[in-house]
Amino acid sequence: MRVLVINSGSSSIKYQLLEPVSGAVAASGMVSRIGEPVEPGSPTVEHEADGRTLAHDGPIPEHATGLRVVFELFARSGHDLTGEGLYAVGHRVVHGGEVFYRPTLVTDAVLTSIDELSALAPLHNPANVIGIESARRLLPAVPQVAVFDTAFFHGLPDAAKTYAIDAKVAAAHGIRRYGFHGTSHEYVSGQVAELLGRDAAAVNQIVLHLGNGASASAIRGGRAVDTSMGLTPLEGLVMGTRSGDLDPGIIGHLMRTADFDIDAIDLLLNRNSGLKGLSGVNDFRELQRLIDTGDQAARLAYEVYIHRLRHYIGAYLIDLGEVHAITFTAGVGENSPQVRADASAGLSRFGIGVDADLNTAKSRAARYISPPDAEIPVLVVPTNEELAIARAAAALVTASA
Ligand code: AMP
Repeated sequence: MRVLVINSGSSSIKYQLLEPVSGAVAASGMVSRIGEPVEPGSPTVEHEADGRTLAHDGPIPEHATGLRVVFELFARSGHDLTGEGLYAVGHRVVHGGEVFYRPTLVTDAVLTSIDELSALAPLHNPANVIGIESARRLLPAVPQVAVFDTAFFHGLPDAAKTYAIDAKVAAAHGIRRYGFHGTSHEYVSGQVAELLGRDAAAVNQIVLHLGNGASASAIRGGRAVDTSMGLTPLEGLVMGTRSGDLDPGIIGHLMRTADFDIDAIDLLLNRNSGLKGLSGVNDFRELQRLIDTGDQAARLAYEVYIHRLRHYIGAYLIDLGEVHAITFTAGVGENSPQVRADASAGLSRFGIGVDADLNTAKSRAARYISPPDAEIPVLVVPTNEELAIARAAAALVTASA
């Protein structure tokens, strides 16, 4: 049984063909720079299957073309997607609003609703819709399942999900904290419970998803009780290019005094802020290289990043009262011992600390990095959103058969 997982973004499509039980990946790849001019000879689609990489050069004017090229590359690499054996297509959908909070079989009506939610996620849902439409056209006989990034946070307690603005305005416009990266937080928190050898219902935990986008969550007994992202994925931690938390007064100030319109504000806060806004680079490895050369702006960006991260750890310790694990995941969380050490520094009075050897040991496995006698285990658990989406899609198709 194989599931194709598609993550369709505004100018890229990432995909994996995988086996949902074992997690074995048969093929994976990415279409990039959709709708952008490209230099002749520079690949826009890179496809990996059975240890071989196939590439496609030339511009990809829109998503449907991108997926068509992907299907050709699948065929060339010996995996015929239109033939027998594809059990489902799982689509990552960023915003499910109040409507969708579990994996959902795509129908025309579902697709229309996802499109209507674009008002809440204008940078994400339209691209998700295009990806689903293209896949439905190319694979009309295969069930398509939407898996929502907001779903895990659907049941946030009222106090955590409510913004303190005029309640009538909030209700009229669907304004609440929805949370994102839910598939990752749910998957990782499940892995943590397994690693601790406890039932998820008995584990209170903090999950720190630190990638290019970044979010934290507080999870009590398997249910999310708080998270750092809000109405949009802009709130919370400092990210690669997003600001995270800021005084909303900044927006009015820029509009009144600096002639920023709403598009300029969106661009500033989503693409030109965070680590990139402060240091010029959004990639954490580049930031570390700049810091090593003595770059003061990069050092400050790092300090702001850690400062904010520690605030959320502190807040969630208090939210949860009793915490059984703190876990780092995603690109930075899984690979930067420095971030993990700095985030946990000086917290021994709270039962939190990392062991220097365990923290710096090279491993791709889910593992402990706190000393064996630590009161609160600190862990690194690799996330795998594709696997979680594939499993959710397969389970839904099986249940509705
Ligand atoms: P993700 O969005 O989860 O793919 O994470 C991307 C981020 O992880 C980028 O900022 C990368 O620079 C960062 N990252 C990947 N590998 C490493 C590494 N070995 N050390 C530090 N950061 C890394």
